[in-house]
Amino acid sequence: MENKKDENLMENLISLCKRRGFIYQGSEIYGGLAGTWDYGPLGVALKKNIENLWWKRFVLDREDMYGMDAAILMNQNVWKASGHVSGFSDPLVECKKCKKRFRADQLEDQKKCPECKGELGEARQFNMMFKTHIGAMEDDSAISYLRPETAGGMFVNFKNILDSFHPRLPFGMAQIGKAFRNEIAPRDFIFRVRELEQMEIEYFVKPDTWKENFENFRKQVWEFTKDVGLTQEKVHELEVADGDRAHYSKRTIDFEFDFPFGRKELYGLAYRTDFDLKSHTEASKVDLSFFDEESKQRFLPHVIEPSFGVGRTLLAVLSDAYTEDVLGDEPRTYLKLSPRVAPVIAAVFPLLKNKPELVAKAREIFGELKKEFGRIIFDDNGNIGKRYRRQDEIGTPFCITVDFETLEKDVGVTVRDRDTGKQERIKISELSSFLKSHI
Ligand code: ATP
Repeated sequence: MENKKDENLMENLISLCKRRGFIYQGSEIYGGLAGTWDYGPLGVALKKNIENLWWKRFVLDREDMYGMDAAILMNQNVWKASGHVSGFSDPLVECKKCKKRFRADQLEDQKKCPECKGELGEARQFNMMFKTHIGAMEDDSAISYLRPETAGGMFVNFKNILDSFHPRLPFGMAQIGKAFRNEIAPRDFIFRVRELEQMEIEYFVKPDTWKENFENFRKQVWEFTKDVGLTQEKVHELEVADGDRAHYSKRTIDFEFDFPFGRKELYGLAYRTDFDLKSHTEASKVDLSFFDEESKQRFLPHVIEPSFGVGRTLLAVLSDAYTEDVLGDEPRTYLKLSPRVAPVIAAVFPLLKNKPELVAKAREIFGELKKEFGRIIFDDNGNIGKRYRRQDEIGTPFCITVDFETLEKDVGVTVRDRDTGKQERIKISELSSFLKSHI
């Protein structure tokens, strides 16, 4: 029963995202391209709010973090050294009958095709990196890859940061950007895609301090899930067992979320030892060691890596916020988004669109708030009830209405709360601080 409801939830959410301009299927008019999605105006607004909250928490509010934006295309030797060329693969099986391909580790029955019940072939390793050629030549020396994670761009710039900023340990590098994985089976809307976006940190520490730094980031990951307004009971930690961790990791915690299609990985937190700096030192022949002024010792720092998916955050936020209820006697659908991430914080309406004095005052208030907050819209289409429904559906927390009392009695505007539907009067001069107090 529960599952049925959740299946509907995904369908309803995907259809809302398309209808209201959050997320569209990639290349839709040509029949789509599996594993790609395009963000529309509201989707990109939500995405930027999430990224800004992350950048604020992990970069702007700290003194020990260096922001980066490295190139997506890198020298192929980067991915040889990191182990991606030889080992960034998933087990692929093909059905002998219908020829469909599946990720073997995601199948309940490893022998039978989940679609046609035909016999499955042997699993083989399938490398998930997108390969391309740089320049006019197509020989092996021209090979490059679209990065499968942003991390590589930070390790190869480690020495640049040392030389430009002379940081002390511990310090981190942080980056938000696209990554590409040729997933065997993209699925679950924006959960598993082929073109994704990550927010990652490589935090460099003295080897004997990794545990305390790991704990610190563990708490910070939880704090970030609160920043974006996720229901805390839906977030879970999974200590990844010895045999299941990536070869370079000595400890990994997956942060999982109760998505409508099940409990799945949202973020990862890994202790990567000195694996990366060591591999890149050996392969590039450039010394990536660190000289510690305090102990007068030279060594390779160890790394704590929190890794966040932008799309998975969006999906967690949207599926958590999707709500159907009855307000008054009218059924409605709304997104219970935190005002900190909502694409629009407030919509401003004149009560009636054919009364110029109401429209003029509403536009004046809209102009002021827009200048200050950006995420404000003006709407005078249809009756007020319809406008409320429209704003509810995109998760706008507040609707501000200019009515006759606003003009005649100087009592301010009405501000309607999305979740309760209740209205209160607020003085125009206090609107800005009211909205600020919610973000
Ligand atoms: P999974 O086991 O789900 O394939 P992973 O363990 O390979 O994920 P990591 O390599 O740890 O993922 O990547 C870090 C983060 O990047 C993940 O926690 C997730 O948020 C995001 N991510 C990874 N792969 C995808 C994808 N194909 N689509 C969307 N987000 C992804």
